Amino acid sequence: MIIVSEETCTKIIDRASAFTAVEQVFAAMARGDAYNFPVIREAIGHAEALYGFKSGFDRAGLVLGLKSGGYWPGNMAKGLTNHQSTVFLFDPDTGRPKAMVGGNYLTALRTAAASSVSIKHLARKDSKVLGMVGAGHQSAFQLRAATEQMDFERIVGWNYHPEMLPRIADTAKEIGLPFEAVSLEELGAQADVIITITSSQNASVLKDYIKPGTHLACMGTDTKGKQEVSADLVAAARLFTDEVAQSISIGECQHAIAAGLIQESDITPIGAVINGDHSGRQSEDEITLFDGTGVGLQDLAVAAAAVTRALEMGHAVEVDI
Ligand code: NAD
Repeated sequence: MIIVSEETCTKIIDRASAFTAVEQVFAAMARGDAYNFPVIREAIGHAEALYGFKSGFDRAGLVLGLKSGGYWPGNMAKGLTNHQSTVFLFDPDTGRPKAMVGGNYLTALRTAAASSVSIKHLARKDSKVLGMVGAGHQSAFQLRAATEQMDFERIVGWNYHPEMLPRIADTAKEIGLPFEAVSLEELGAQADVIITITSSQNASVLKDYIKPGTHLACMGTDTKGKQEVSADLVAAARLFTDEVAQSISIGECQHAIAAGLIQESDITPIGAVINGDHSGRQSEDEITLFDGTGVGLQDLAVAAAAVTRALEMGHAVEVDI
């Protein structure tokens, strides 16, 4: 079995490889070549932890495995990140364990890759202003990945906790783009593309704030009860997602579904756009919204890419089990 440590992952896998892996697996999902198994997530009654696993099989890429981990709220005090995960890959021909890969850094990379895949395929090609809603751990990854898919000229940002905004200001500076902290209303009026990446339980981004032609990548809502944008904004947009079953149950679309404003059939898997089976954005004026709920196959795809890179670069540790 090959072991690729968390630290090695940060050295060997780049945003371009993560982008390609995620784009390909979304396409495979839409073709029916790859599928996610039901997600398990449990409060384990210890250390206030939420533990679970996401698993799946990509028959096209021959990637079988799971990501296991969750949320340990006391970790920060121990000098660890609260979100912890590890990916296990298996040989689909024999069931033998193939690799164990650190999943923390890869989770951030694959989540950012998902929103940037949506920007490539759904945003207007003349988009110039990127709006960031959220300034937590994921936000810097999102910002870097998005600016590699579109020639943005400036970044505007808002966060519920304004003291966290320097994270995106500093990242924008490193990328070489001007950044301005603005109100949500100003953000909606200026941004051509908006990424939401918060753990909010209530809508921050309202329909009236958003101008025609905007693309929204809603990435923070991955659990029942979370919400970043208003249900009427979701209903006004042309909707895309990684996986429809998750979008309507744990994703941003859950609220518009519950309110009866949209139906499951209104939501298109983004893989269909990547495959050319759906034409994506229909006009320069329509609002497009990608509901990025986060699927196990994204983790497996990026972990498989990390194993390949680790072997190529001589960074993989091999053990007999
Ligand atoms: P973080 O804890 O580092 O940051 C949290 C962010 O949410 C900050 O911007 C914070 O200001 C904001 N926030 C907190 N409470 C809020 C409130 N009441 N109203 C509005 N904003 C609030 O988290 P992170 O690692 O950056 O992750 C952000 C979100 O993305 C989380 O909800 C996480 O579960 C989700 N996530 C989704 C995926 C996916 O695949 N879709 C993957 C990873 C993380």
